[in-house]
Amino acid sequence: MTSLFLHAAQLLTLRGPARARRGPELRELGLVRDGAVLTKGSLIVAAGTTDEVTKPLRSRKQAPITEVDCSGKLIAPGFVDSHTHVVFPAPRLDDYERRLSGATYEELARSGGGIRSTVERLRSSTGKELLTLARRWLCEAAAHGSTTIEIKSGYGFELKHELRMLRAAKAAAPRTGVEVVRTFLGAHTIPSEYESKRRAFVSLIIEQMLPQIAKQRAAEFCDVFCDRSAFTVDEARSVLEAARTHGLKLKLHADQLTRTGATRLGVELGATSVDHLDCTNEGDWKALAGSDTIATLLPASNFFLGTPYPQARAMIEAGVAVALATDFNPGTSPTISMPLVMAIACSQMRMSPAEAWVAATINGAAALARADACGSIEPGKRADLAVFAVDDFRAVPYFAGMNLCEMTVCAGRRCRTGYTGS
Ligand SMILES: [Zn+2]
Repeated sequence: MTSLFLHAAQLLTLRGPARARRGPELRELGLVRDGAVLTKGSLIVAAGTTDEVTKPLRSRKQAPITEVDCSGKLIAPGFVDSHTHVVFPAPRLDDYERRLSGATYEELARSGGGIRSTVERLRSSTGKELLTLARRWLCEAAAHGSTTIEIKSGYGFELKHELRMLRAAKAAAPRTGVEVVRTFLGAHTIPSEYESKRRAFVSLIIEQMLPQIAKQRAAEFCDVFCDRSAFTVDEARSVLEAARTHGLKLKLHADQLTRTGATRLGVELGATSVDHLDCTNEGDWKALAGSDTIATLLPASNFFLGTPYPQARAMIEAGVAVALATDFNPGTSPTISMPLVMAIACSQMRMSPAEAWVAATINGAAALARADACGSIEPGKRADLAVFAVDDFRAVPYFAGMNLCEMTVCAGRRCRTGYTGS
């Protein structure tokens, strides 16, 4: 199928090198007025002004083209949400209410709430229930303009349940059209039965889970939650080094609740991204700036928890390649809306609207090792587009909490965004 999206008030191409952007490049949107995009099959064929894109079409005989008039609208690359926990069995509304009356994340965990309550519920959920919910959230993601989403395991604590999560993540994708990238997060937290024998759990991950995850090609990345209530830097190192020998790429939940040195570990191991970074310091930013590791900030979790935001401004000034993602999960970030994340990033972390766009698209793609395939609107890249009912890119973060995405196109096809319960 060949489609022509034309006459957009603004087209954000984000054209440029197929890698993360940093420094002044973080503000370069490749903006085109009266923009057009031509797609053929799953790929982008041309992008530029409507005149530039349509001129060659007039002179040659063409197969039928579906035209989509985007007058008065914004065309942008689909968002690349590079950090989520989409497969979960139920929201944690009791935790939510208790936390609002003062209970901390760790107190909730100690009294049977938190991650462990999600694990219990997940283990008793059927595969069909998990799949139905995952599809529902992917539809929501697409409705908000996301076209690529990373999904982590981590609520299984056992190989069998971790694999069920990763299977549900994969099976949920085709119906919506959104591309799903899977991450094994076997090291999410220490199960209570292993509290006095942590090393045994780490060995279980390394010796039993990782070889099977790799053999079954159930994940592309391995992630570890390295923090005071989860895994130590040494434990994270041993899991990630083992993952690397199995050919998995690396991610880390790093320096979120306290500074453990996980960011430095990620840089040292050549992780594709280190995520959260709320408690990082100048030395960490310098290390990141001198590396190819992406700093993925998740400000919706700070918004939801009421905790201090990562210092995005200082990181950007230091030359760090910053990405934005939702961290969608039932405990600390119950939103899958990238426009809302951008609104929070701008108003709370003082990122400029242009920086937020770059961080939510091409830099998100780099955080999933896909900067050559998606994250910008350029010939040869996958035809992943989001069309917004606004005529200025700044309006997307500005209208906070409103969903102005009108159409999402994944790999050249219009996404299914309506959830029908099946
Ligand atoms: Zn997370």
